[in-house]
Amino acid sequence: MNLWNTRALGLALAGLAGALAWSQLPPPPPLNLIKIADDLHMLEGSGGNVALLTTSEGTIIVDDKFAPNVPQIYEAAKKLSDKPIRYLLNTHHHGDHTGGNAGMMAKEPTEILAHANARDRMIKGAMPGVPRIGYRDGITVGLGGVEVRAMHFGRGHTDGDAVVFLPKHRVVHMGDLYSVAGPFIDYSSGGSALEWVSTLDGALALDFDTVIPGHGPVLKKADLREYRNKIAAMAKQMKDLRSKGLSKDDAVKAFDPKPLGWEPGRLLARALPGLYDEVGK
Ligand SMILES: [Zn+2]
Repeated sequence: MNLWNTRALGLALAGLAGALAWSQLPPPPPLNLIKIADDLHMLEGSGGNVALLTTSEGTIIVDDKFAPNVPQIYEAAKKLSDKPIRYLLNTHHHGDHTGGNAGMMAKEPTEILAHANARDRMIKGAMPGVPRIGYRDGITVGLGGVEVRAMHFGRGHTDGDAVVFLPKHRVVHMGDLYSVAGPFIDYSSGGSALEWVSTLDGALALDFDTVIPGHGPVLKKADLREYRNKIAAMAKQMKDLRSKGLSKDDAVKAFDPKPLGWEPGRLLARALPGLYDEVGK
């Protein structure tokens, strides 16, 4: 994770990501445009991964990073297609995935959609660029003969996570239900490690080959299956520590993320006390 991203994520998670806070940061570093298909690209770099689907009737975008990334996302979309950006889907409410909402809406009359819980959390948190449309189980957007399905399979990273499925492309955008460096269970936003597993089972039942994670490189379905098993192993390890009679503090200290292949990063570490509580219920 680059330094700009770390500082921006800090601002976003602290709920400070307003214009004043952004003015303290230098401009964001350039983003990498990665081609998945002729009409489907990913923008990698600061914040969450952005998917750009171009159709004969307009462009559909999934997630929009931080507010300062809007010019970069807009420019990339316009280079790929001169058609309007018609729809923008947020995978969840976090500011590194929705930070560009207000800026993108200011550029074009783009309709933004998110799970109802994600939308509610943006309203409660006074986050800018609240999506106009919320949905519960899922919603399908059809444009230029291409379908994009946003689906909710239950709690995981938050209680408002969407899996965005592109059946024609056999691609899913997982948002932070799949973050390659390791999961962050956002208990303050209704996240759940135990439900995360069944949520990923729901996603894995879809017919796809390629996975766009919330953060990290483009991956395959087998990688997502492995991640699902690691989430289950993470919960089991904490349950085992708790069963041995360890206190919350001791269990958090004893928890070892290395067998899971994840860095003992601060996001995972922050969720461990909540995980101890959850597995004891
Ligand atoms: Zn997130």
